[in-house]
Amino acid sequence: MAKKVSYQNFTFEEYIPEQQILDVVKNMAMQIEKDLTGKKPLFIGVLNGSFRFLNDLFSHFTMDCEVEFIKLKSYESTESTGKITELIGLRDSLEDRVVVVVEDIIDTGLTIANVINDVLAMNPKEVKVATMFLKPDIYKGALMPDYVGMEVPPEFIVGYGLDIDGLGRNLNSVYKKIDSLSFGSQKRKEC
Ligand code: 5GP
Repeated sequence: MAKKVSYQNFTFEEYIPEQQILDVVKNMAMQIEKDLTGKKPLFIGVLNGSFRFLNDLFSHFTMDCEVEFIKLKSYESTESTGKITELIGLRDSLEDRVVVVVEDIIDTGLTIANVINDVLAMNPKEVKVATMFLKPDIYKGALMPDYVGMEVPPEFIVGYGLDIDGLGRNLNSVYKKIDSLSFGSQKRKEC
C-alpha cells in the first residue's frame, strides 16, 4: 500500500519515491556538466522550493560553478495591472555569465517567465532553465526548459522541497494529493 501523509486536512499518497528522484537528479547533473564544463556557470535557485533540488544537483558537479539564490516577492499593485512580482537577491550584473535558473516545478510558466525577464535585463552571455518537475498539460510558455527532471500530471504535489502552506518540504519522496478538492485552492502564493 502507498505511504500516506496529511497536511491541512488533505491526504497525500506517495507518488515518486526518493530513489527515483535521486536517480533523475544525478542524470540531469551529468547532462548539465557535460554541456557547461569550462563555462563556469552560475546557478540561480528560485527559493524556497528549489533548495533541495539544487543541493542534490551540486553534490554531483565536479566542474567549476557558482550558486546564488533569489526569492520572488508578490504583492498587489495599486494600479490596474494586478499582481507585481519583484525579484529579491539578484546581483547587479550578470555580464558575460552563463546562467542556469533552477526551479522546483514549472506549472503555468509565469514565475519562470518573470525570472528570465529580469535575468536577461542583466546582460548574461547565455541563460538556461533547469526544473525538477514540469506540468506539460498546464505550461503555457513558448520555450521548453533546457533541463526537465520529470513531467508530472496537473495535480498538486508536495515533498522534495515542494510545500503546502510551508509544510511538506522535508519529505524525501514526492506525494500527490488524493482528496477531491480542486488544485487551484491549494496552489501556493509564495515560491
Ligand atoms: P507557475 O508560475 O509556473 O504557474 O508556478 C510555479 C510555482 O507554483 C512553483 O515554483 C511552485 O511554488 C508553485 N507550484 C506549482 N505547482 C505546484 C504543485 O503541484 N505543488 C506545489 N507544492 N507547488 C506548486
